[in-house]
Amino acid sequence: VNDPLAAVLREIVGTQNVLVDPGIRAAFETDWTRRFHGVSRCVVRPGSADEVAMVLRACAAEHAAVVPQGGNTGLVGGGVPRGGEVVLSLLRIDGIEHIDPHLGEVTCGAGLTLGALNEAAGAHGLRLGVDLAARGSATVGGMVATNAGGINVLRYGMMRSQVLGFEAVLANGSVIDRLEGPAKDNSGYDLGQLLAGSEGTLAVITRLRLRLVPVLPHSAVALFGAPTPEAAIDLAQRARAHFDDLEAAEFFLPEGLDLVRHHTGASNPFRRRWAMYVLFEIASRKPDVLERFAEFMDTVPGLGEGQMDGTFAQDAMDRKRLWALRERHTEAINSEGVPVKLDVAIPLARLPRFLDEVRGAVTSFAPSARAIIFGHLADANLHVNILGADGHEEAVTGSVLRLVAALKGSISAEHGIGIAKSHWLGLTRSPQDIAVMRAIKRALDPEGILNPGVIFTDTARPVTPPARRR
Ligand SMILES: Cc1cc2nc3c(=O)[nH]c(=O)nc-3n(C[C@H](O)[C@H](O)[C@H](O)COP(=O)(O)OP(=O)(O)OC[C@H]3O[C@@H](n4cnc5c(N)ncnc54)[C@H](O)[C@@H]3O)c2cc1C
Repeated sequence: VNDPLAAVLREIVGTQNVLVDPGIRAAFETDWTRRFHGVSRCVVRPGSADEVAMVLRACAAEHAAVVPQGGNTGLVGGGVPRGGEVVLSLLRIDGIEHIDPHLGEVTCGAGLTLGALNEAAGAHGLRLGVDLAARGSATVGGMVATNAGGINVLRYGMMRSQVLGFEAVLANGSVIDRLEGPAKDNSGYDLGQLLAGSEGTLAVITRLRLRLVPVLPHSAVALFGAPTPEAAIDLAQRARAHFDDLEAAEFFLPEGLDLVRHHTGASNPFRRRWAMYVLFEIASRKPDVLERFAEFMDTVPGLGEGQMDGTFAQDAMDRKRLWALRERHTEAINSEGVPVKLDVAIPLARLPRFLDEVRGAVTSFAPSARAIIFGHLADANLHVNILGADGHEEAVTGSVLRLVAALKGSISAEHGIGIAKSHWLGLTRSPQDIAVMRAIKRALDPEGILNPGVIFTDTARPVTPPARRR
């Protein structure tokens, strides 16, 4: 309460927007997975870019570290304090300033949630091209800061592909305004693309102009059971070749299906257990989606002969039911304990080998741990969730990520590096590459105020170690 910095911040944003009470701060200090937790100096909630600029100047004057935070749904610990930082919450900067239905654009505050954006855009028959299960809480600023991917990447690209303009505040309080202007603009470096995936280490994003895509009125969802990962990959490639309006190609494994069924009470859509389940969605302006799925099914070898199984949703309820089997994985896993969450990409041809070897990589360090794996098959992006690795989290993480690196994959496909993977950056980025990234960080944030310890371990200041909480 007597912190002089908090007093300065109250002058800027008002007393009610500087949270010092530990009970009220708590929700901002623990991440969604409950794996990362730290006590903040205070939580400050500015209401405009100008207030963000003043807050950052005040923090810089005190050499106080700042953790930008949106909806706190990030999965790598980059949005919560490690200990002693000021949490800068963007949730009050959530206005929808303008939706242009003709150009398919929205201008909005960075703290707007994906759900609220889609609700407003939906009135114009539009939505954001990136969709993910955390849509109720994830903010568009956080989604740009993490370059979020999600379930429609194969059709619309990742979050960076949706950014048409931005406003952001640097650590020294200067405001970069590139909100307006033509979509085609090659006047120098594309700073908006630099901020996509910067995880709050380069600037605080305050406003965004984002591309919107049409809500397509007709969609069809089908779920397949495949006997091997190779057969599932072949199926996904056939679907990509067959449909020019494929929106999603997702996968999960039998252990994950069991867990989701246990957690939600859902029934098994198939009579037997398959090695891999693949969910497809197509969406179109034309109503013939079910017929086209039926045609596709006729081309799948082994279907109906016991070598593969498939079912497609007949109505909206059915679609939701099939999607729930994939989308409720994260919460089902979380209900079992605090998982080690890894988000990797593997060149598609090596994916079966990864699936073969990953369990050994886990159990060699944590014999009783189990890996629940699901993800975006079209992007060869696997979410590897390890339960029961208690006390061996770092060893298991290293073991899996070394396997990923050996297979020439990515140690972070869409969640970012954050705190969780900063020790492992060197596995897939060369020293030269890391030197360039550090130079960019120094150029934009020379005092290391913004999100110390995120991406690069040695930008971390001495802080109290994160407490592990269940
Ligand atoms: C159930 C569930 C499902 C998910 N599914 C997916 C998925 O399919 N694909 C995917 O990519 N992610 C997924 N995520 C992860 C998460 O939703 C995304 O990373 C999301 O983009 C984070 O947004 P947020 O507003 O919650 O950001 P936060 O968690 O608050 O912050 C994330 C990072 O961005 C920084 N940051 C936040 N806002 C700003 C800002 N305005 N300016 C600068 N830096 C900022 C923070 O410092 C932090 O480093 C999922 C999470 C959950 C809980």
